[in-house]
Amino acid sequence: MNFKNLNLINPIIRAVTEAGYAKPTEIQYTAIPYILAGKDIIGCAQTGTGTTAAFVMPILQLLKKYTPDHSEIRTLILTPTKELAIQIENNFGIYSKYLPLSQLSIFGGVSIGGQLAALRKRVDILVATPGRLLDLINQRHIDLSKIEIFVLDEADRMIDMGLMNDVKKILQLIPRKRQTLFFSSTMSLSVRKFSETILSNPVEVTAVPVTSPAKMIRHVGKEYAKPDRL
Ligand code: AMP
Repeated sequence: MNFKNLNLINPIIRAVTEAGYAKPTEIQYTAIPYILAGKDIIGCAQTGTGTTAAFVMPILQLLKKYTPDHSEIRTLILTPTKELAIQIENNFGIYSKYLPLSQLSIFGGVSIGGQLAALRKRVDILVATPGRLLDLINQRHIDLSKIEIFVLDEADRMIDMGLMNDVKKILQLIPRKRQTLFFSSTMSLSVRKFSETILSNPVEVTAVPVTSPAKMIRHVGKEYAKPDRL
């Protein structure tokens, strides 16, 4: 299995090759065909599995395919922390190197001025933490009415960090007719219940870390991925 087998377009294959990746990870080869087909996804995947690229690459391809000529934000990725927002934005930067698409991340804990200036330019893909996004929406600097693809990253951490009320407010502001990609490291009952309220007929994908695919341990009937440091 290689990236060409996944029907990814040349500009993305070129970028992924330059990034040094020869083969898709498990979550990439499982999820990418469904995302390209426009399906909703529920993914149980820990960090280290290549999940970010698993949604970044097909999103870029979908945005390139449909009406590239526009001026609105078309994809929103919500993630719980500033560090994750920056990491996801960087991934979009890497894989969109040969595409006419632009990305921006916004998060709290830094002055709003730089983010406002960046929002005046064209933004195809917005990566955001919920609180700062709501601030900017309330100040009428961001319009989410043209969102086509919505990604909720690290849903379990969103719940643990008490960010779900903000996420729910944001969900009211994006179109119901959209593609939704939902990722969580763990799939507790509350995560699953919430996923059911925002997904439509989703395909379920799971993955183990890229760095230690063979290191699975059995523990009271369940499989756990063993962290590298153990
Ligand atoms: P993530 O799960 O998105 O946090 O990614 C974990 C790590 O996997 C990152 O350091 C990526 O650079 C790396 N990665 C992403 N795609 C691949 C791939 N196809 N092959 C090997 N490593 C990858």
